[in-house]
Amino acid sequence: MESGIVKRIVESSMAVEREVISIRRQIHRRPELSYAERETSALVASKLRSLGMEVRTGVGGTGVVGVLRGGEGRVVGLRADMDALPINEEADVQFRSEVPGVMHACGHDAHTAILLGVAEVLASNRDLLRGSVKFLFQPAEEDGGRGGALPMIEDGALEDPHVDHVFGLHVMADCPAGVICYRPGPIMAAPDSFRVRVRGRGGHGSKPDDTVDPIFVTGQLINAIYGLRARMVPQTRPLVLSICSVHSGTKDNIIPDEAVIQGTIRTLDEELRSSVKIKLGNLVRGVCEALGAQCEVFFEPNAYPVTVNDPSVTAKAIAVLREAGFPLVEIEPIMGGEDVSRFLQRAPGMYYFLGIRNEQKGCVYPNHSSRFKIDEDVLKVGVSSLALLAVAFSSKE
Ligand SMILES: [Zn+2]
Ligand SMILES: [Zn+2]
Repeated sequence: MESGIVKRIVESSMAVEREVISIRRQIHRRPELSYAERETSALVASKLRSLGMEVRTGVGGTGVVGVLRGGEGRVVGLRADMDALPINEEADVQFRSEVPGVMHACGHDAHTAILLGVAEVLASNRDLLRGSVKFLFQPAEEDGGRGGALPMIEDGALEDPHVDHVFGLHVMADCPAGVICYRPGPIMAAPDSFRVRVRGRGGHGSKPDDTVDPIFVTGQLINAIYGLRARMVPQTRPLVLSICSVHSGTKDNIIPDEAVIQGTIRTLDEELRSSVKIKLGNLVRGVCEALGAQCEVFFEPNAYPVTVNDPSVTAKAIAVLREAGFPLVEIEPIMGGEDVSRFLQRAPGMYYFLGIRNEQKGCVYPNHSSRFKIDEDVLKVGVSSLALLAVAFSSKE
């Protein structure tokens, strides 16, 4: 890309920096949980309208879509998520959450503010766009089940005009401040959750042979499920299996009737994902049958897909960012999940991480920590990188 274009985008991003930080703090003070992003989406819609955009509100719930029309080139979708988490904030900042028990601990306040900054930068540099840009502000990324992206897509967010490419970013405490961390191909996992209900037959703790002890069965199941990772899938394929909740029983001398196990399965390809679910189901049923217990195995049906960065789009995007002088680091995949994957399934694009870690400023706590803190100096990097990608990909060349 011409250096003059890069210069204009970078300068415009610097010019909106203060406003982006102030919007971010405003949203930070008023965090809203998944599907309840009413104030946030109203703020987004009014800002987009003030920039003269076509705005649709109530898209798939509280989602907002803004369109900036350019030439006859491609349509680039830029995505930000808006929801907060059920966490009581303990971060060392002056603009702490005013809502007890709710906090922007994943940085979605920053994503929303960054994307509003991009909207302003591109609205004032419209002549650089060869095509149109669609701003996708989504609810409920943290929901983990159906999420907010799918309802927006079902409500037509990617049509009229049809979106050709999607880009988005996430602030990341594991990456140094201002660094863009990227990866072609799968960058985040499909996060499947499972629940097993073991039905035995309870009785007196002194007479286990009269019972079918669901706690004993659960012990065997834990070994078998972890054995699946160790012995039943190729060692070269990434897979995380974690049992994170086990519940049963009430008292030291009562063998209970039931036990419930919950856990998560993380995979980076859809083939392994479906085969692991089948194997886990068979294994659980087999162990329970052998030990005389009954069981139900339940998988969350709407879990997010693998987040896949299109290799050729990523190669071009990284070349644009490298030429523009952004610090870049290629990373290993992250086994967390993201429903930006739903957009990327339908429009090839790239999702990347923006580092916010800064020891001097105390920005060292991980995403989802009650002390999560962002180095706000990086927000302008988020703005300029997304704006540049929109300009680059709006062209048909
Ligand atoms: Zn999160
Ligand atoms: Zn997040």
